[in-house]
Amino acid sequence: MKLSLNSSISGNSVSNPEKVKVLILGSGPAGWSAALYAARAELKPLILTGSTLGGQAALTHTIENYPGFPEGIGGMELGELFQKQAEKFGARTEFGLATAANLSKRPFAITTEGNQYLAETLIIATGASPNKLEIPGEKELTGKGVSYCATCDGFFFKNKKVAVIGGGDSALEEALFLTRFASSITVIHRRDSFRAGAILQNRVKEEKKIELMLDTIPLEITGKEKVESIKLKNLKTEGIESVEFDGVFIFIGHTPNVDLFIGQLALDEHGYLLADNRMQTSVPGVFAAGEVADPHYRQVITSAGMGAAAAIQVTRFLQEN
Ligand code: NAP
Repeated sequence: MKLSLNSSISGNSVSNPEKVKVLILGSGPAGWSAALYAARAELKPLILTGSTLGGQAALTHTIENYPGFPEGIGGMELGELFQKQAEKFGARTEFGLATAANLSKRPFAITTEGNQYLAETLIIATGASPNKLEIPGEKELTGKGVSYCATCDGFFFKNKKVAVIGGGDSALEEALFLTRFASSITVIHRRDSFRAGAILQNRVKEEKKIELMLDTIPLEITGKEKVESIKLKNLKTEGIESVEFDGVFIFIGHTPNVDLFIGQLALDEHGYLLADNRMQTSVPGVFAAGEVADPHYRQVITSAGMGAAAAIQVTRFLQEN
């Protein structure tokens, strides 16, 4: 997704920080919705995009469950519409990743590479990152056949044999997407039943290119220059075998992006930001929205709703303080 003309690179620096009423970290559905609502409240929000413009949603090929798009819409296209709408009302976008945060006093100091911002209020919408299997070969072969994004990399596997690891909505949805390119897709799941929704399960079962390998875990991904095979263990028989694959797509859940806030904001037992039902975190003036604070729903629509709610609360907070 491209930054629009409204986007800017600011000339502020650590010695001359830019003061903003509302700073939003993250440009997924939560970030853009917060920006839209804060902009319409004339708070001139600044959105710091993070490393992936559009967040995880932008990496999703088709979103079929966001209301208003009965034919579905591309994740990137939806993100662009979100951005356009927020900027129309005065939100500003800066491409950058926050590298430090000091939330000990207001205004809150947020630092990026080269820039610093002093924010009267902060909305954290930093989302989550894909979990890793943490097995030998995974890291070494990432980008050489190991991928966490079928939308980004599926094209490189035309007529190839690929494995998809995981049993949730992401794994099955992305396995279906890969049928456009790969000659065969094997979904490898550690249990004998799927966590994914019934519609996706039925579609996967009907798809001739997809095979299921259940009760199975990967032990090692092997290959010299690129992925060549996966060593697999059947958890019921305890049998171990090596199966040839050209690629492996890993969809085993996500971890919230909270590194900057550890020790400053309260987290729940799974590491998500703790926010009350008004999106307020443990520090007054710091709000959270989207998957970084949502272990339950993690949908585009729920994230967008949380972003809107956070911006409404920011407006009230600024009125009262
Ligand atoms: P998820 O629902 O947490 O599923 C993760 C899958 O990975 C589970 O099947 C899990 O197995 C498996 N897994 C976890 N750790 C593993 C490991 N170390 N080794 C092997 N397998 C492992 O994650 P997700 O699929 O990314 O979905 C995240 C959220 O987004 C969910 O709420 C989902 O509904 C939502 N989502 C929705 C859609 C949609 O509505 N179209 C699309 C994508 C995502 P177990 O089942 O055994 O735990």
